[in-house]
Amino acid sequence: MSERSELARVPESLTGRIVTPGDRRYAALRSTYTRRATPAAVLLPQDTAGVVAALRYAREQGRPIAVRSGGHGLAGTSSVDDGVVIDLSGLNRIEVLDRASRLVRVEAGARWAEVAQTLSPYGLAISSGDHGNVGVGGLATGGGVGWLVRSYGLTIDHVRAVEVVLADGTVVRADATREPELFWAVRGAGAGVGIVVAFEIEATELRQVGVAQIAVEARPDGSTVRQWAEVLRGAPRELSTAVTLMPYGPVTVMSITAVVAAESLRRVRPLVAPLREIGRLLDDRIDLVPYPALVPTAHLHPNLGQQPSLTTNGLLTGMDDGQARAVMRAAGRALIQLRSVGGAVNDVPPEETAYPHRHQDTLVVASVFPPQGPAALDAAWSGLARRVEGAYVNFEGRTGPAVLARVYPGETGRRVARAWRRYDPDGIFRA
Ligand SMILES: Cc1cc2nc3c(=O)[nH]c(=O)nc-3n(C[C@H](O)[C@H](O)[C@H](O)COP(=O)(O)OP(=O)(O)OC[C@H]3O[C@@H](n4cnc5c(N)ncnc54)[C@H](O)[C@@H]3O)c2cc1C
Repeated sequence: MSERSELARVPESLTGRIVTPGDRRYAALRSTYTRRATPAAVLLPQDTAGVVAALRYAREQGRPIAVRSGGHGLAGTSSVDDGVVIDLSGLNRIEVLDRASRLVRVEAGARWAEVAQTLSPYGLAISSGDHGNVGVGGLATGGGVGWLVRSYGLTIDHVRAVEVVLADGTVVRADATREPELFWAVRGAGAGVGIVVAFEIEATELRQVGVAQIAVEARPDGSTVRQWAEVLRGAPRELSTAVTLMPYGPVTVMSITAVVAAESLRRVRPLVAPLREIGRLLDDRIDLVPYPALVPTAHLHPNLGQQPSLTTNGLLTGMDDGQARAVMRAAGRALIQLRSVGGAVNDVPPEETAYPHRHQDTLVVASVFPPQGPAALDAAWSGLARRVEGAYVNFEGRTGPAVLARVYPGETGRRVARAWRRYDPDGIFRA
């Protein structure tokens, strides 16, 4: 099929900014990290006016529309077969607006590695996620569980204003007093309200962080996992951890990356020491590194559908025996990650943003990879499904009403639905 001939002529403002099948740039732009796709066109605006023009053009085609910042979304929704992708990678400026108040403006198409790199000379950092290639737009409209999550909170908790192109092409600046409902929805449910072109975010003072890589053997009865959760519950907020459970022959290795928001090893060592005691120690390294080393520019790469996978997640408060055993059983059937939340995340009232999960302290993430599919993920997750409470949109690879009900439960869900209808009455961003 000649896709291009079916598309209307592009307006002058988009000349050279539309990539269709046959264009040599198409191969690098068609897909996302998890999904190979065949869009009819990818539009490459370079500024807000370009986004408005791209959106108008995309709407005129009557095809599904996908919005992409970094293309790392696990559900693969930032590309669309036969539709039009608005790719924001050209909007990637990063600017310190005011060093004294640590206010930073970041455009949606920048990658978090670039943000860390740009802020580092100012002695500033924004806790985002664990990967430098993740885009600003997807992460900062969903949540942002970063390396400093227990001391800093979620990325969205530090967003002070946003610039959004709404479905009708209007450009709106939203903050706590102007368009407060839009500002509320963008922080957790942003993918359904419009195209966020830029965020103003309050960074934190940070040059170095302590990083420990600890590997212990995880006992199958769940006691090691339980002890990890207990250590974290009692630990100062400077400590955040990310854990991967890896079956290795008859044993399961618990690989812990512990990050301490402190600039001296004298402070870092005692905080990570209890983690070395929770199981038979297999490996143990500790260092101080500049924050950008945690989300390095070495992560930057094009997304070509190279990592097909299916992911789901849920949150836990505490870790009882049943939950810990369920985590261990799941680890035998899927890749299981445990991420610290809690701490500063839970200082924010649940109704303040569209991310309402403000009392839990662990995020459990399960992924399967081809040839395993949805049935394998369901089987792996079955023991955890009734034990978790809520879910985080950005670690969810599945879509649909059941997923939305877990991500946006109760009153949050009703308010999100109202905001999505109000700002995007035709549902073009929800298609
Ligand atoms: C390897 C890897 C590591 C990760 N690590 C972490 C982590 O440590 N912490 C964490 O919190 N998350 C993590 N994530 C999840 C990540 O936050 C989400 O996948 C996020 O949505 C990716 O953002 P993106 O801009 O790259 O995604 P995209 O694929 O471009 O977009 C994802 C979704 O957001 C929407 N969207 C994108 N940009 C905008 C915008 N400007 N305005 C409105 N909607 C938009 C898209 O339409 C799509 O629905 C990780 C993902 C991967 C693949």
